[in-house]
Amino acid sequence: MVTVQNHIDGRQVPARSGATLDNTDPATGATAGTLPDSDAADVATAVQAAERAFPGWAATPATERSRALHRLAEALRARGADLAHAESVDTGKPLSLATAMDIPRAVANFDFFADAASQFASEAHPMEGRALNYTLRQPLGVVGCISPWNLPLYLLSWKVAPALAAGNCVVAKPSEVTPVTADWLGRLSAEAGLPPGVLNLVHGLGPKVGAALTAHPGVKAISFTGSTRTGAEIARTAGPAFKKLSLEMGGKNPTVVFADCDFEAAVATTLRSAFTNQGQICLCGSRILVEESLYGRFRDALVERVRALRVGDPLEAETQQGALVSRGHLDKVLGCLEVARREGGQVLCGGKRALVKGRCQEGFFVEPTLLEGLGPGTRTNQEEIFGPVATLQPFASEEEALRLANATAYGLAASVWTANLKRAHTVAARLQSGIVWVNCWMLRDLRTPFGGMKDSGVGREGGVEALRFFTEAQNVCVQL
Ligand code: NAD
Repeated sequence: MVTVQNHIDGRQVPARSGATLDNTDPATGATAGTLPDSDAADVATAVQAAERAFPGWAATPATERSRALHRLAEALRARGADLAHAESVDTGKPLSLATAMDIPRAVANFDFFADAASQFASEAHPMEGRALNYTLRQPLGVVGCISPWNLPLYLLSWKVAPALAAGNCVVAKPSEVTPVTADWLGRLSAEAGLPPGVLNLVHGLGPKVGAALTAHPGVKAISFTGSTRTGAEIARTAGPAFKKLSLEMGGKNPTVVFADCDFEAAVATTLRSAFTNQGQICLCGSRILVEESLYGRFRDALVERVRALRVGDPLEAETQQGALVSRGHLDKVLGCLEVARREGGQVLCGGKRALVKGRCQEGFFVEPTLLEGLGPGTRTNQEEIFGPVATLQPFASEEEALRLANATAYGLAASVWTANLKRAHTVAARLQSGIVWVNCWMLRDLRTPFGGMKDSGVGREGGVEALRFFTEAQNVCVQL
């Protein structure tokens, strides 16, 4: 049993009330440990600790902050195997995925922003000999980072690292569904020598801890990743208090496959983009649009590969599809499959709960599912399912492909598959999507802006964008 604690002022502490919540292993359905059921009092204590630490941390030379973050990256790297195991047990994702993706990318985020801390520069605007403007970028103070369950340590580090690099102190609220690697992060930050109060983690429920953090007057900015519904709730509180706000929210991403694509690469990567992490990545391509002349061949090849995906115990090396993150999420995804059937969708493969024998027989597994015969206006093609479920739709022309691709309220990511260079560029520019991949998926350069359009997001993370978000720009105009 794992006992997760809050990390406040450099120490591991329970909730002040002493209350706890159970944490479930989704692969077995069994209770795996507890976490603090914190409330506004714990948030207030963490904010006070962060406020005390802020003047010292903000005044620490960037090169020293950079070294501290590199030490934290090193500490995470050294415990990589433990962290990958913990992430797999907490989320239900295959251990192989946590080992290859979640943990290395979390480490890379700390290394990247450690370097960025020492490289961050700002602009000067000389006025033809009359005056010189230059921009100071000051840290904001105490900032709140709220993260989801699908890539727990990876997405938490994507916020915490730039916030600390820019000289802020952080109160973070990890997902209550997957708190374990955040607990490690707190402990390892102390081991790496981060001063007490610079990074605080408060565990518990969103409407209690997340809402208290969002509303706290000492918190100057909220960086949030999660559902569009929660993002709207946060904006309702943070907006009138004039807090800086970065919202990374849901997606319903199109994969657009033209007949002239590299067929093998398109099938293999579409399989990955739809089903990696059981479809529980905001960037997953859940609407697969295929040019009519290729539709049948592409569909048949994809169905064959989806059927061959091995669903099983996340800790076994050959498992490709693990469990969904919780019983609640399992029920939601099974409900979406019911809706798809009622809407007239034909199930090409999958379509129901998957039973895994042995220690995982009570686990929350769903068969990877492909559906066809559903129009763009159906709930199945409009609402985020966030599970191993994708739809196929044919299109006749580039115009129709764009119409279908843009036909949702979301606008996070898209993939385009074509050998036609001109078409790749023109289609990319017309997709209402913050991120477009051409002939690839989830290829990431940490310097690039990351985020969504429309209901998928407000603001951008990544590289300089994140450092700008976590600083206040101040123009100084000096008459010469
Ligand atoms: P969620 O919105 O339920 O929870 C996200 C976080 O917000 C959790 O820590 C939760 O406790 C907290 N929270 C809940 N209610 C709150 C409130 N009232 N005030 C403040 N905080 C609150 O999302 P989830 O189910 O954990 O994650 C899945 C969602 O995240 C999907 O919609 C997915 O698309 C999205 N996501 C987006 C990105 C992106 O980069 N755009 C990345 C990953 C996941």
